[in-house]
Amino acid sequence: MQDKILDGKGTAEAIKAELSEEIKRLEKAAGVTPGLAVVLVGEDPASQVYVNMKEKTCKALGIVSRKHLLPVEVSEQELLSVVDGLNSDKEIDGILVQLPLPGHIDEKKVLERINVEKDVDGFHPISVGRLALGQPGFRAATPAGIIELLKRSNVDIPGKEAVVVGRSNIVGKPVALLLLNENATVTITHSRTRNLGQVTQRADILVVSAGRKEMITAEMVKEGAVVVDVGIHRTEQGLVGDVAYNEVREKASAITPVPGGVGPMTIAMLMSNTVQAARNRAEGA
Ligand code: NDP
Repeated sequence: MQDKILDGKGTAEAIKAELSEEIKRLEKAAGVTPGLAVVLVGEDPASQVYVNMKEKTCKALGIVSRKHLLPVEVSEQELLSVVDGLNSDKEIDGILVQLPLPGHIDEKKVLERINVEKDVDGFHPISVGRLALGQPGFRAATPAGIIELLKRSNVDIPGKEAVVVGRSNIVGKPVALLLLNENATVTITHSRTRNLGQVTQRADILVVSAGRKEMITAEMVKEGAVVVDVGIHRTEQGLVGDVAYNEVREKASAITPVPGGVGPMTIAMLMSNTVQAARNRAEGA
């Protein structure tokens, strides 16, 4: 079977091109320019890279981007006031608080403070509840990006056996719910799962978000499976994922590379959520 690379980079570019057109239409028809505010606490280098990438993408698409850089010792109350200010700012459609936050700040409290209509990260409990109920609302960007990539790559989801490795709140659980909403038969696995390899071998669609370098080997994968690798690990040889790419590629009918797979989709979906929030503003929703 010929292997097929699921091209996250190219798909993300196509989505961004569509969004750029949509933004022009919104401006012309309703005088609304989408606005995204990113709040970064402290100077974590990885977080700075992500925030800069988001800012750059906003600029390229014509989204107003506002960056709030707060010192690591900022109090929880001060951070909550910044969120309150953004909640009532009419030019801001999406609010994103870059995680992780320093230990003295209650992450849950901050995320819950974001107005759910501006929750473009999809981490607010109400957004998660809407996802679980299959109601419209913001979906977390990485899980949404995975589904979008599968669909745009013509991977058929309904009725398929989908296995998700990992149950994090930002990837594993929401992607499992999205796959369920797409009518897959879904199994979620985690560090306490027995005989993981036997479970993953059942998968027609295997999504791996365990944060363990190259833990999924060829013998754990069914011939012809579609494999989505969320993991990101920096090594001397460059970025690698949670899947042993070279050997699994031989067995899979389709597979995401690292880099160039799920990563670029995440940022494209964040932009898509921001444009959706602006569309809601334009429609007075
Ligand atoms: P978390 O560390 O929050 O969760 C990992 C999950 O994997 C947990 O549920 C854990 O189980 C499970 N797990 C760990 N080891 C095993 C194992 N040996 N067998 C089965 N399950 C296991 O990770 P995230 O979901 O946040 O991220 C995972 C990876 O994805 C990371 O490498 C991260 O950098 C990357 N990532 C990439 C993104 C992108 O845009 N491409 C976005 C977000 C993350 P348990 O619950 O029992 O502990």
